Amino acid sequence: MKESIKMIKQVRTKNNSFSTVKYDKDGNILTPSRIKELAKARRKDSSGEKWVKITTQFYGTCCVCNSRILIGAPVLWNKKSKQTKHGKCP
Ligand SMILES: [Zn+2]
Repeated sequence: MKESIKMIKQVRTKNNSFSTVKYDKDGNILTPSRIKELAKARRKDSSGEKWVKITTQFYGTCCVCNSRILIGAPVLWNKKSKQTKHGKCP
């Protein structure tokens, strides 16, 4: 998270106190919710769990329940690990 913060500014608020404003490398203000969002996106990336909804064109085996996946069945396919699993295991 630290590397995305390029600039930190102290600004005076209406009630005469100081507030810290952080900017990312693109000059966008990093609000607490934005920081949370970025952290969430990063966690998603690092997990490598990218399941794509596809329809099978050949027989496969579900990596969760180990049963046969029929041709034409809607399944989830992991691009990274090349695994296939049922959208909903029977
Ligand atoms: Zn299954």
